[in-house]
Amino acid sequence: MHIKGSTRLISLLGDPVNHSLSPYMHNLSFENLGLDYAYMAFEIKKEKIKDAVDAMKTLNVRGFNVTMPYKEKIIDLLDEVDNQAKIIGSVNTVLNSKGKLLGYNTDGKGFVKALEEKKIDFKLKKVLILGSGGAAKSIAIQLALEGVKEIIIANRTIEKANIIVNIIKEHVKDVKINSINLNENKLKSEIINTDILVNTTSIGMREGFLDSPIKETKILHKDLFVADIIYKPQKTKLLSQAQERGCNTMNGLNMLIFQGALAFKIWTGKDMPNEVIDKILNK
Ligand code: NAP
Repeated sequence: MHIKGSTRLISLLGDPVNHSLSPYMHNLSFENLGLDYAYMAFEIKKEKIKDAVDAMKTLNVRGFNVTMPYKEKIIDLLDEVDNQAKIIGSVNTVLNSKGKLLGYNTDGKGFVKALEEKKIDFKLKKVLILGSGGAAKSIAIQLALEGVKEIIIANRTIEKANIIVNIIKEHVKDVKINSINLNENKLKSEIINTDILVNTTSIGMREGFLDSPIKETKILHKDLFVADIIYKPQKTKLLSQAQERGCNTMNGLNMLIFQGALAFKIWTGKDMPNEVIDKILNK
């Protein structure tokens, strides 16, 4: 109810968007801090994405989020893109700075922040990432930049894993990086000495909630930290298997909130209130 004549819009562009938690998270934060912004999500069809971005400028919004399927395509429509987002090749947050649209990527940083909040030490550790889509790319590059010792990327389509390996080899020097096929034997031999396992595949999501990327639960050892970036359901089959084996775990809600909190900071210069973060985590 805080909307006034002076209120500036911050929005989300994507398709679909009606499941998004972002309007709730950001509007609650604006209200909590008494900021004169309002957040709305817009479902944009692909032939209209350029018009939508032009409209963001015309309407002088403070900024916007970009979600599937536009995180990569949006780059060509922006005035400038921050270095890290350029390396990742995708943007999820845009700031309108005096009429110039500047692109950032907070996905990988959100994941790292979630690990930090959970007090998980990832520096100099070995991380096994399952999947090679957009989310895997952001997370792998961010972890490499943050000083993990070794990253293994496992994917069904090995060519996509190799693309991420090559980007990291080109941009980050002190990290050991390799790809493997997503099959049980390969996973088994890598997991033995892995510290952190991250599922970024969509296996286990929504209707597929009975599926897991790991078939043999016993290959998970109790010293492994298991993160699944899926947040619907909050406890995936993989997380249940991991808990059964005594592993410490984290679901995708933490990453979702912290990538949002980093975008919030870019637009407002302020930290997302802890009350809001706690409320969403416990909702
Ligand atoms: P994406 O680009 O479509 O990538 C999907 C990945 O899953 C690919 O590596 C794909 O392998 C793999 N995959 C899908 N079905 C598979 C199957 N049946 N068997 C083996 N591999 C399979 O998607 P994305 O944007 O990276 O998102 C991936 C997941 O992360 C989604 O569940 C999404 O909701 C979640 N996510 C969460 C957050 C968060 O903030 N928590 C942020 C972004 C995404 P191929 O390459 O072989 O096709």
